[in-house]
Amino acid sequence: MKKNKQVKFKGGKEGYCNICGQYSKLTRDHIPPQGCVKPTNVELRTLEQYLTEPSGKPVNSQSGLNLLSICGNCNNNLLGTEYDPELIEVSKQVATLVRVKQELGLFLPETIELSVKPQRLVRAVIGHILAGKLPTPGQPPISARFPNALRNYFLDTSSAIPNHIEVYYWVYPSNKQIVINSLGIGSGIGEGFISGSCLLKFFPLAFWIVWDKPPSFPINLKKISSENFNGLDESCEIVVDLRNLPPLNYPEVPGESRYIMFHNDSTVLAQPGKPKGFG
Ligand SMILES: [Zn+2]
Repeated sequence: MKKNKQVKFKGGKEGYCNICGQYSKLTRDHIPPQGCVKPTNVELRTLEQYLTEPSGKPVNSQSGLNLLSICGNCNNNLLGTEYDPELIEVSKQVATLVRVKQELGLFLPETIELSVKPQRLVRAVIGHILAGKLPTPGQPPISARFPNALRNYFLDTSSAIPNHIEVYYWVYPSNKQIVINSLGIGSGIGEGFISGSCLLKFFPLAFWIVWDKPPSFPINLKKISSENFNGLDESCEIVVDLRNLPPLNYPEVPGESRYIMFHNDSTVLAQPGKPKGFG
């Protein structure tokens, strides 16, 4: 029986880096980076636990969602120095607007435009998604077209966003964090099948990276253009929709006539833990 299987969120101190594949001392990646969300007491569950027994016993973490999963070079020199600052900056700008609406009840415009550096922003998102699972002990990262394309793009700073990849984003006004490395979504009504995608959601933004999306599969979200941006510091305007948001559990809880497939070991959901002394 696979039920009640102990889910692990603590890994080895050494192993193969989930991004560059080098065997080395592993470092702890905070997902999302600490500048986006303050690490607090959270309950960790896999997607399967969340979907099938949401009240089951979680694993507790005092310092947010973090995993020993990538080497010091990928974590500090690339992700932390080169890419995270852009993700943090964009998150802060959107968070301010979402809080103004939540706390003051102000009526926001339908959309806003933000200037972003897509090559840094998208690499930050990809880096934290790749870091969002424990490395399999003794084994380098799985070699397959989608994860290889993500890793190569992250590491080769002169490359453009790969052709087969689409990066969707939307406002996500929830304090539940989700990182999923491998999510397939199918349709029972002939819209085709997304065989590879990965997901990162945290207040105030969600990012969904989709590999080889069939044209017949509808995704009504804004996406970051993959064209014509090569330099790390080239910027573009992105439109952020502030009013028309998908359900909070989109796309990991499929709607009618959809089904999902995933590796449970490469999914983590974090939600605020109960304060000490209660419940
Ligand atoms: Zn590495």
